[in-house]
Amino acid sequence: MRIAAVRGDITEQEVDAVVNAANSSLLGGGGVDGAIHRRGGPEILEACRELRSTRYPDGLGVGQAVATTAGKLPARWVIHTVGPTFTPSEDRSELLAACFRESLKVADTLGASTVAFPAVSTGVYRYPLAEAAEIAVRSARDTPTNVENVRFVLFDTESYEAFTAAVQHSE
Ligand code: ADP
Repeated sequence: MRIAAVRGDITEQEVDAVVNAANSSLLGGGGVDGAIHRRGGPEILEACRELRSTRYPDGLGVGQAVATTAGKLPARWVIHTVGPTFTPSEDRSELLAACFRESLKVADTLGASTVAFPAVSTGVYRYPLAEAAEIAVRSARDTPTNVENVRFVLFDTESYEAFTAAVQHSE
């Protein structure tokens, strides 16, 4: 598997699947979630509502992942995953690692070979960047998968530098 960190906007990625840093409701939010729904159009939200009324009446659990159409995005699918909120009083690194592992498992069921991830949990969920980057890259590396290319897409310089360092550490 090739892993790269790039600067950019996840909604513009020409990959098979982009991962959304969703919340449990699956009904939209700010940050990456807001950008994906804005750019992808109402089809994605319709698919999310359908999932809520069928498979996930109580919402998608932290560390789980599920796919929908990508609507008008260049990607074919959006894989929604719910990161943990950071708290210093509890180690939630396993839950954060699960987001990447479960997203790659979903990618396998779709037959996706290129997947773009955002820096899950490092926005409003406040996970410390360097720690989140190491967990993300390690989890992707350690997951047995047919996905050939994993691209971490970072919005700002600080995130880009943290993920670039984590990718280098993992090589
Ligand atoms: P979470 O709720 O999991 O913390 P956020 O969406 O709040 O997720 O933020 C995760 C990271 O994604 C932050 O670093 C944020 O700056 C970044 N981000 C926001 N919009 C985009 C985008 N369009 N493409 C890539 N990254 C983005």
